[in-house]
Amino acid sequence: CFITFEGGEGAGKSTQIARVAAWLRAGAEGAREVVTTREPGGSPRAERIRGAVLSGIAKPYGPFAEALLFAAARLDHLATLIRPSLGRGAVVLCDRFSDSTRAYQGAAGGVDAGTLAALERVVVGTTRPDLTLILDLPPEIGLARARQRDRASAGGPDRFEAEALGFHQRLRAAFLAIAAAEPARCAVIDAQGSPDAVAQAIRATVAARLPH
Ligand code: C5P
Repeated sequence: CFITFEGGEGAGKSTQIARVAAWLRAGAEGAREVVTTREPGGSPRAERIRGAVLSGIAKPYGPFAEALLFAAARLDHLATLIRPSLGRGAVVLCDRFSDSTRAYQGAAGGVDAGTLAALERVVVGTTRPDLTLILDLPPEIGLARARQRDRASAGGPDRFEAEALGFHQRLRAAFLAIAAAEPARCAVIDAQGSPDAVAQAIRATVAARLPH
């Protein structure tokens, strides 16, 4: 089964994925293999594309070029990691997937939604998530958390300085609109609480939505 985690900056996706993975491995389903991965990236070639795009290589060409490069990365990630893992019965937990393309390059970046949907059909095909957890919180809070995290690790320049708050508000609205449009696949999780509270909400949702 394929579970994706989505949300804006500082929503706590990485922390929560690690916790869900530990919970699944320890639980009644413990015999089941759990694979954690992320996008952009997730496979060696896709990680190289991630590094290039996040370092700004596509900036002069705009968000559509970014979407194409991330699509190439996703093609490799799906072929080399996601599909083989699902094929042998593993649970795959992925930090960001197609909804991030729709939100970042689409809603916030201005790339036409129909174009991105066509790209998604070609690249993702039938490998759609069974469940998408959208970790939702006000961008002011998420950005403060993300800045604190970046200061604690590498320091360096503020990664988010160039983006106006409106950009992050558009992202949030886009994720919530996706959840509203696809309620069978998506669940919105309030990510403002403590890590324990968020983990509890996620466990309840996974147990209710994927009862097997
Ligand atoms: O979730 P994570 O912090 O690893 O994402 C890294 C960065 O990649 C995000 O800050 C976001 O700006 C960028 N990103 C993007 N378009 C995507 C996915 C991620 O610009 N489709």
